[in-house]
Amino acid sequence: MEVLEVKTRSRTEMVNITYQVQAVIEQSGITEGTAVVYTPHTTAAITINESADPDVVRDILYETEKIIPFSDNYHHLEGNSAAHIKSSLFGASETLIIENGRLQLGTWQGIFFCEFDGPRRRKVWIKITA
Ligand code: ZN
Repeated sequence: MEVLEVKTRSRTEMVNITYQVQAVIEQSGITEGTAVVYTPHTTAAITINESADPDVVRDILYETEKIIPFSDNYHHLEGNSAAHIKSSLFGASETLIIENGRLQLGTWQGIFFCEFDGPRRRKVWIKITA
């Protein structure tokens, strides 16, 4: 397993980690298989979406905050329930296909680390399997 460190700068943020994941695949030497990209945090997530137009990420975060506001009648005393809910909705991992040593993504797709309770130093675990 490889560990990526992701340093986030905002309370909510989507960080494109596609190139780092591809680099881990290349280092592994595995050319055909799968990559699991997983984050071991309860207030973060991994998702795949458009990486060409940054307005897509902006709109995802903006609309998600409207659905799950930071402040509501939450009971969790830590004060970050919105981040926990977003983490579960987006999910902790994605599984990707590797062909000819390359990640198989759609033309407009990228892999994003989603920060919902930043800024923090985060980890992403990557497991490449032939
Ligand atoms: Zn909490």
